[in-house]
Amino acid sequence: MEYRALGRTGLVVSRLCFGALTIGPLHANLSLSAGAGIIRRALEGGVNFIDTAESYDTYAYIRAALEGWDRPVVLATKSYAYTAAGMARSLEVARRELGRDVIEVFLLHEMESEHTLRGHREALEYLLAARARGLVRAVGISTHTVAGVRAAAREPEIDVIHPLFNCAGVGIRDGTADDMLSAIREAHGVGKGIYAMKALAGGHLIPRAEEALRYVLARPEIASVAVGMQSAAEVEFNLAIAGGRSVDPELRARLAEQRRRLHVEDWCQGCGQCVERCPHGALSLVGGRAAVDPGRCLLCGYCASACAHFCLKVV
Ligand code: SF4
Ligand code: SF4
Repeated sequence: MEYRALGRTGLVVSRLCFGALTIGPLHANLSLSAGAGIIRRALEGGVNFIDTAESYDTYAYIRAALEGWDRPVVLATKSYAYTAAGMARSLEVARRELGRDVIEVFLLHEMESEHTLRGHREALEYLLAARARGLVRAVGISTHTVAGVRAAAREPEIDVIHPLFNCAGVGIRDGTADDMLSAIREAHGVGKGIYAMKALAGGHLIPRAEEALRYVLARPEIASVAVGMQSAAEVEFNLAIAGGRSVDPELRARLAEQRRRLHVEDWCQGCGQCVERCPHGALSLVGGRAAVDPGRCLLCGYCASACAHFCLKVV
């Protein structure tokens, strides 16, 4: 495994970051021991960086995986809090539930523009004070927009940016993959630590997983890539790609056999854009939300780009 400096934070992270969302209750809902075991396998393979969020509800898995693990691990988490009191609560929850005095990276979750960043100023100020007290090492934002990356790049106190980036541009709400890459370059140029998310576009690029992952890993501006993993086979696959090795054909075949489904996130707005986009009549609106007919869904991923809220994922 190769390791890179995360901007100017002083943190050094593995190129592959364990994205903890998929093991938890919002996606695969694995048992505590199964989820922790998958994280542990990634750590044994050289991963030293785990990404989560308060809303993912996965702190218990991470804590269990780190029990007895004696090598340093960088933890990144995020909160939607926008007030100082809310962020104080989020930081305390993270420290208590993860069993850590210091959280290495704390992010404002989903900052979409300069305007949203301004609206979260109190929470950001709280994190900056926590950094000064040594309770967090680095402060930043996660974002699905080019505008979010640009706004954070202009903010001198922000250390880390966690942008959505993949070769197809799926999920980028205000531009193309090229637009995002140009913003990432700008942010990297002013010293921000960058680690990307959704390299596989929420599962939609799984049929081209190797090419999609290599595409993001090939960007020198991106220190690490967070990838959701919910099985030992997926961990092995991602470790091979991040390590620059070829993938064992038997492993490739095993992954191809893994059963997948289209998942609609809770925050679906019921706008119906995805229903119009699906060429196979697999989506409809039921009770104000998108619903999938698994018998018709071919997991082609076309619907994902129609959703401005990134609600549709192949899991
Ligand atoms: S993945 Fe493809 S077939 Fe399935 S709902 Fe989306 S567009 Fe339709
Ligand atoms: S496009 Fe997104 S928000 Fe709109 S109905 Fe479909 S899943 Fe829900």
